[in-house]
Amino acid sequence: MISYDDILAWVRRFAAVVTENKSYLTDLDSAIGDADHGINMDRGFTAVVGKLDGPDGLAGPDIGVALKAVGTTLISKVGGASGPLYGMFFLQMGGAVLGKEALTLEEFATAFETGLGGVLRIGKAEPGDKTMVDALIPARDALRAAIADGASVGEAVTRMARGAEEGMLATIPLVARKGRASYLGERSAGHQDPGATSTHLLLRSAAEVLTGR
Ligand code: ADP
Ligand code: MG
Repeated sequence: MISYDDILAWVRRFAAVVTENKSYLTDLDSAIGDADHGINMDRGFTAVVGKLDGPDGLAGPDIGVALKAVGTTLISKVGGASGPLYGMFFLQMGGAVLGKEALTLEEFATAFETGLGGVLRIGKAEPGDKTMVDALIPARDALRAAIADGASVGEAVTRMARGAEEGMLATIPLVARKGRASYLGERSAGHQDPGATSTHLLLRSAAEVLTGR
C-alpha cells in the first residue's frame, strides 16, 4: 500500500529536487524555450510546501484532498505552460482517489492515468511532440507492465521512473510540435525537453520515497 504520508513525502521530496535542479531545468529551457522552467517549477512547489506547512495545513489524511491542493496551488501560482499542466495532473490524480487514506498499487496507477488524461486533454500533445507527455506515457506503460508482472510497489515505481527516463532521453532528437519550443521548428532537435526532464524527476522522486521506506 501507498500511504498518505508516502504521498506527502513524495511531494516534499520533489519540491526539494526541483530546488536542487532549478538551474538545470532553466538551462534546458534556455536552449529551446524562454529559460524559466526551473523558475516556474520552483515557484510552484515552494508554494505547495508553504501550503502543506501553513497554518491551514490540510484537512486530514485524505490523499485525494492533498493531491488536489497541490494541483490548485500550482495552477494559481505558476504562469508558464507547466503550471496548468502539472496542476491538472495533480488535480485529476487527486480527484481519482478522493476519500482514500492509502492506495493499492492499482489505485495509484489508475490515479496516475487519470492525471495523464488531464494533461492530454488540456495540452493536446501527442506522443512524439517533445513534451512532458513523452515521459509520462512510457512511465505509465512501464508501471502497467510492472503491475501485470506482479511487481511490488517499490519495483513497480522504479520501473515507472525508468520508463520516464527513457522517454525523457528520447525527446532529444525530436522536433517540438507543442509549446514554445515548437516556434524553433527543426532547431529544437538535439535538445532534451525541459518538461519531460521535470517529469522524470517527479517520478524518480516517487521511486526514491517508495523504495526507501
Ligand atoms: P512555458 O513554455 O510557458 O515557458 P515552462 O517553461 O514552465 O512553460 O514549461 C515548458 C514545458 O511544458 C515544455 O518543456 C513541455 O514539456 C511542456 N509543454 C508545453 N506545452 C505543452 C503541451 N501542450 N502539452 C504538454 N506539455 C507541454
Ligand atoms: Mg519556459
